[in-house]
Amino acid sequence: MILQGKVALVTGSTSGIGLAIARALAAEGAAVMLNGFGDPAEIERLCRDLGAVHDGADLADPQAIERMLRRCEAELGAPDVLVNNAGIQHVSPVESFPPDKWDAIVAINLSAVFHTTRLALPAMRSKRWGRVINTASAHSLVASPNKSAYVAAKHGVAGFTKTVALEAARDGVTVNCISPGYVWTPLVENQIPDTMKARNLTREQVMNDVLLAAQPTKRFVTPEEVAALAVFLCRDEAASITGANLSMDGGWTAQ
Ligand code: NAD
Repeated sequence: MILQGKVALVTGSTSGIGLAIARALAAEGAAVMLNGFGDPAEIERLCRDLGAVHDGADLADPQAIERMLRRCEAELGAPDVLVNNAGIQHVSPVESFPPDKWDAIVAINLSAVFHTTRLALPAMRSKRWGRVINTASAHSLVASPNKSAYVAAKHGVAGFTKTVALEAARDGVTVNCISPGYVWTPLVENQIPDTMKARNLTREQVMNDVLLAAQPTKRFVTPEEVAALAVFLCRDEAASITGANLSMDGGWTAQ
């Protein structure tokens, strides 16, 4: 168990990739703070399973983020591992892209990463050990039509990751992003109806001709594969991996 005595805060960990990462970090001995929305009874069950605490901060609200960080420090300790994973998606051509959806995607997928990181970094620096792991996306490297806000925000996460990695390079703190291709989670499942509408396609056509079309392996990445890489980044052997954008996309961005 490599994270015994360490605290991990994982945003967007009530579902999908974040939940798999939270489970994997807890299995390595970390005390975990979960974050995200969902059915309260289900979240309570997750907390019991993982021996975790949950904070329901809405990451679109910087003050709620600050309260979450303070609560984590008070109840578990300052995060040694910060996983910025929460994210939302909206699919629409740019000229009809709703401005409120743009603002929400930039706030949750990008600005929240800035707020959690700026608040968590000082304690990591003073302990001279820390890991910031951002769930970016293949869309931090390449674009797809109708995802302007998401692609812009994820490219922003990749740039932010590199910048903070340089700033923290001498302090024992690594800052990286993992860039999955399509992972089968509610986020992907929920965008199928909009893509069907935007491109006038059937569900099967969206799955095979739009989503997996980009992925040479022709299979979805699993949340557990992403979580295993996050655990590796926490190992001491990963101390020299910083500022990296690590693709896990079945060959998508190799094309
Ligand atoms: P998901 O929808 O299963 O989970 C998203 C999580 O974020 C949930 O826990 C949700 O409650 C939380 N969340 C959403 N809005 C929030 C808010 N305002 N405040 C706090 N929490 C909020 O999605 P997922 O597929 O597991 O995605 C996780 C991350 O991985 C996202 O950043 C996403 O962009 C990225 N990603 C996903 C895929 C994919 O194919 N699924 C691919 C590449 C990157």
